[in-house]
Amino acid sequence: PQDARETELVERNLPVLGTWVTLSAYAEDPALQTRVQRAFDQVAQQLADFDTRWRAFGDGTLGRLNAELVAGDSIRVPQDMLPLFRRAFEIHRISGGLFDPRIGALVRVWGFDDEAHYRESPPPQAEIDTALAALREAPESLQACPGSGEAEQDCYGPAPGVVLDFGAIAKGYAVDQVGERLLAAGIENFMINAGGNVRTQGRRGDRAWRIAVRHPRPEIGRLLAIVEPDNENLVTSGDYERYFEYQGRRYHHILDPRDGRPAQGLQAVSVLSADGTLADAASTALFVAGPGHWRDTARKLGVGQSLIVKADGALQATQTLAARITLPAKPPLEVV
Ligand code: ADP
Ligand code: MG
Ligand code: MG
Repeated sequence: PQDARETELVERNLPVLGTWVTLSAYAEDPALQTRVQRAFDQVAQQLADFDTRWRAFGDGTLGRLNAELVAGDSIRVPQDMLPLFRRAFEIHRISGGLFDPRIGALVRVWGFDDEAHYRESPPPQAEIDTALAALREAPESLQACPGSGEAEQDCYGPAPGVVLDFGAIAKGYAVDQVGERLLAAGIENFMINAGGNVRTQGRRGDRAWRIAVRHPRPEIGRLLAIVEPDNENLVTSGDYERYFEYQGRRYHHILDPRDGRPAQGLQAVSVLSADGTLADAASTALFVAGPGHWRDTARKLGVGQSLIVKADGALQATQTLAARITLPAKPPLEVV
């Protein structure tokens, strides 16, 4: 017979959110396994809906709002999207603009909105400048606007040329919501893996859930670190997920809103937090902050556990995370 553990692991792979989402639950008895399967069916629908709602381009809700924005109209934030809009704009403010949900036009200029066709060379500076100018003119935050009847609503704009893009925070938010759904269904031992965003809950039978973090440079090693989150999220942002190379330089999808170009100085940032939405936005913000400023940005965001790979391959981690990771990699870990 197979390893008993394998038959007690219920798994589901879903192609959604621009990646593969893997749901795993540890369930010993058949009744619980059936309950898990039913919950996974619901989660599949939940994620498919989420995907259409939050896609920056195309026919979904955000895609249509963006079409209105680009045309120079202001938009009303739909009620069901308000929590993530508010969170994203709050983190925008706290991060001093390093995390910027208004970055969509720049993402498009660099071609990272289209996974199938990456550019072969950087875009003309004039296109970058146009997108930066739109950002400079645009409101920094949501505004209150009159809703139907007495109610106040949140609005954004006018901000001609601006495209909202929640790509650096939406996966974390989706994972938080899936986690809540599974807990509400009475499932207590699970892992949600959405590409660079992993959340665990409970245990995998007689041991903890264990996560391997990929090394940003496979030629150095496959594995960067092993972490055992404890009902927490481990979120990684790196320059190795979506990029192209031109004349020996790497151009990747995490953009610095200050100059409109791929952020320099780091290869990867991992953040561990009970709050998946925060961990996602923070890993992106710390990446943009770079080697000299990531600690300060983490402090402002209330993120205590981070692991950094610098451009030269050096590793740094905060003390609380350093104590919890296994590192097979060669360079010594600098605890900061
Ligand atoms: P991944 O999408 O690979 O998980 P991130 O969470 O770091 O990585 O998000 C990167 C995505 O977020 C980009 O593809 C882009 O859509 C958007 N983005 C890029 N730069 C920024 C930024 N400075 N602030 C907010 N979002 C950004
Ligand atoms: Mg992110
Ligand atoms: Mg991510």
